[in-house]
Amino acid sequence: MIASECAPVAKVGGLGDVVFGLTRELEIRGHSVEIILPKYDCMRYDHIWGLQKCYENLLVPWFNYHISCTVWFGFVHGRKCFFIEPHSPENFFNRGAYYGFPDEHVRFAFFSKAALEFMLKSGKRPDVIHTHDWQTALVPVMLYEIYQHIGMWHSRACHTIHNFKHQGIAGANILWLTGLGRPEYYFQRDRMGDDFNHSAINFMKGAVVYANFVTTVSPSHAWEVRHSDWGYGLGHVLHQHQSHFGGILNGLDYDMWNPESDPHIPYHYSAGDISNKYKTKEALRQRMLLRDAYKPIVAYVGRLDPQKGVPLIRHAIFHALHRNAQFVLLGSSPESGINADFWAIKHHLNDNPDCHLEIGYNEELAHLIYAGADMLVVPSLFEPCGLTQMIALRYGTVPIVRAVGGLIDTVFDWDFSERPRQERNGFVFHQTDNLAIESAMDRAIGLWFNEPEQFHELAINGMRYDYSWNQPGKDYVNIYEYIRDK
Ligand code: ADP
Repeated sequence: MIASECAPVAKVGGLGDVVFGLTRELEIRGHSVEIILPKYDCMRYDHIWGLQKCYENLLVPWFNYHISCTVWFGFVHGRKCFFIEPHSPENFFNRGAYYGFPDEHVRFAFFSKAALEFMLKSGKRPDVIHTHDWQTALVPVMLYEIYQHIGMWHSRACHTIHNFKHQGIAGANILWLTGLGRPEYYFQRDRMGDDFNHSAINFMKGAVVYANFVTTVSPSHAWEVRHSDWGYGLGHVLHQHQSHFGGILNGLDYDMWNPESDPHIPYHYSAGDISNKYKTKEALRQRMLLRDAYKPIVAYVGRLDPQKGVPLIRHAIFHALHRNAQFVLLGSSPESGINADFWAIKHHLNDNPDCHLEIGYNEELAHLIYAGADMLVVPSLFEPCGLTQMIALRYGTVPIVRAVGGLIDTVFDWDFSERPRQERNGFVFHQTDNLAIESAMDRAIGLWFNEPEQFHELAINGMRYDYSWNQPGKDYVNIYEYIRDK
């Protein structure tokens, strides 16, 4: 695995969860997996065991010189991880944050190159190299254009796209820096030439063209990206390569997210007996300074990114309060405008005993919210897979989601789904206007107040679903077997 994130050591969103969870599942199935990551200064070093140098002075060719790197090895909750630390004036990964810099493309092009160089020089010849998102999308390109010819002839490439919005659009300088060169060749539209900006290459398009198999993170999203605008311009190239493109629903790490043993929640419970969930709800109220009242708690956990339906999240807060429910939010945004907006709402509702907004990132608090809340809203504009609704289901918290991407594949409406009643697990709405989310929230909150036994049944239905890595793990192994050099 070559990736820019791995939970919990370097996690910004679902990508980190997937890299860790899939690796663990593959190991359980008897495969040997190693993860290569950048060595960020801001990682959670407390989650790495036995960190030590394992390769010094790795000389990575870069433009017409070399950058020397130290490669470190350590275990992240049992997973074998290598961390690449470049020594150069650019200080690629020592900047106090994972993302958000003007030279982002250079940083991750370098990381991709360094990862391949490390494998080449240390004699690693994996059957499959699995890369993720635009940050490592140049790996399949460089594997087939460079490294295959100098020793890595047998490795195959699988690339997973977690988010089509960010594709890695850059100029010809990346080609010169990485040693790919030949702009006239790579700028061709059937290689990496971007379809909108003709003087740019598109990293992600490169992965679609060069990888032996490309996946995205749910079957519905695999359809959406080929047939709607959610492919962000890659629909055409995905059509061309559709024989090796498919959607595999992400799994959830059922060890990390387990209401029966979660160390971050004060009381444990299972589908057989969820009475302790109500005690956890009290603990959540104490933590979030909410009053003790006969009301459901509606929650939102996640990035406050435009993708997540920010206006609908905002509306959900006020509508929940209007409908006599309580609301808790945990989230943050890299966009200062959105953050400021939520800080303003927080101040506005400061004295409201039924509402608490926590603006920031807090892994432990997220667990308590998933366990203590009654409902979770996920009003995304687009959602390739979405983990938060799956975590909510695992904790007996009823998801209220918009019918898009992976949310369609995981949440089935209590009132309108064609599935049998025992398989219905949440509430689904379709449009992006306030009335749409209001009607779904009204149905959920109404059921909680008026038909508590049915609401309980609905929550248990959700807990009985198996969204672990079991099935996706099998699916990925099938892909690896299919593409590997036999
Ligand atoms: P995305 O990958 O688009 O961010 P996902 O739903 O796939 O969305 O994954 C989000 C993951 O990040 C979940 O594990 C969620 O609990 C976690 N997360 C997001 N924001 C926060 C936050 N502010 N604090 C704690 N965990 C968060």
